[in-house]
Amino acid sequence: MRSFAIIGAGFFGLHIAAQIRRRFARAQVEIFEMESGALGGAATNNQCRLHLGFHYPRSGYTIYQSVMGFDRYVAAYGECVTDIRENLYAVRCDGLVSAEQYLAVMDAFSLPYEIVADKSWLRTPEKIDLVLRVGEKCIDPQKLQRRIGALPDVRLRCGVQIDAIDADSGRIFSRGVELGRYDIVVNATYLDPNLGLPPGSGFPLKHELTALVLCRTSLPAHSALTVMDGPFASVYPAYGGLHTLSSVVHTPFRTYTDAQALYADYPRRRALAEADQVRERIVAHVQSLMDVAAEPFDLWVSAKTKLATEKGDSRVTEVKRVGRLFSVLCGKLDAVFSTSDQIMLEIT
Ligand SMILES: Cc1cc2nc3c(=O)[nH]c(=O)nc-3n(C[C@H](O)[C@H](O)[C@H](O)COP(=O)(O)OP(=O)(O)OC[C@H]3O[C@@H](n4cnc5c(N)ncnc54)[C@H](O)[C@@H]3O)c2cc1C
Repeated sequence: MRSFAIIGAGFFGLHIAAQIRRRFARAQVEIFEMESGALGGAATNNQCRLHLGFHYPRSGYTIYQSVMGFDRYVAAYGECVTDIRENLYAVRCDGLVSAEQYLAVMDAFSLPYEIVADKSWLRTPEKIDLVLRVGEKCIDPQKLQRRIGALPDVRLRCGVQIDAIDADSGRIFSRGVELGRYDIVVNATYLDPNLGLPPGSGFPLKHELTALVLCRTSLPAHSALTVMDGPFASVYPAYGGLHTLSSVVHTPFRTYTDAQALYADYPRRRALAEADQVRERIVAHVQSLMDVAAEPFDLWVSAKTKLATEKGDSRVTEVKRVGRLFSVLCGKLDAVFSTSDQIMLEIT
């Protein structure tokens, strides 16, 4: 009987575990999660945007990934996805791309949009060159939790932080204690894709603690507003008529070059966000750009890991294999399919 250990019960870990379970009916599949339950990290504390590419005018790679992942996401997790009736993107005159460049990129990928005249929601309409209505959708994190949070015939072992993986033998360890030996280990921790990779073969990484403000706003439930491209902000539907507010400037509120430093701060991430007054900063930034009333309801704090060498606004997703270990650098949610396809191809 083949044995699989997945480290991290986020969206990537759970999705990959479900694929393995489906393909290898008799296999032993275990997920190790350091928190008290599944989907407590970035998987549900993100902006819930099912991207089509409009957010990434400086990265054809990321647009391509979104285009390829969008339909597959809807097909696989359709019951967790909601349409957004009025989803507007405003392109600033003083942003990182001009309106002409923005449209040229979206046209190159044949992304459907409608140019609209409505600038009434913008504080400084004179700084806006272009407003588009787009067809991106949102992911309901509560529905996602119900859909994938508990997988049949997959053992979820919570409260266990894996701190070492031997890629050659497939052994995994927590606090110096060996927890088992597996045919295949998948590192889907998001916080440290380099865990278990031999020195010199890891990803060059940077890490952030991030926050979004969950709010009741003056917007209708199924409306989304984004100002781009550069140090701007957005308001996106979450669930139950609530929206999240995010700010390119204030959402990442602590940065790290070392995963161990991120792990040290992670348990007190919420207190750190409160201490840094991130909630107030994000709300103020959003309201400096958009005419939106917001009553904060909660703060979603999680971590993000990216390539330190990232170019433009790319969000790279990549899998490295060493021995029995697959290590996943997670980009965006819609990239989960190419990731699991690659792993499944190699282990079948
Ligand atoms: C602020 C923000 C906004 C975002 N917005 C979007 C968006 O709108 N659309 C989009 O597509 N993507 C978005 N993303 C990216 C998306 O959230 C991530 O790509 C995705 O959630 C990462 O994979 P995951 O779900 O598996 O991560 P996580 O949910 O973080 O899962 C990793 C799990 O591993 C556990 N873990 C970590 N280390 C260990 C260890 N050593 N041992 C055991 N368990 C461990 C963690 O506790 C966690 O449960 C956003 C990310 C952030 C941070």
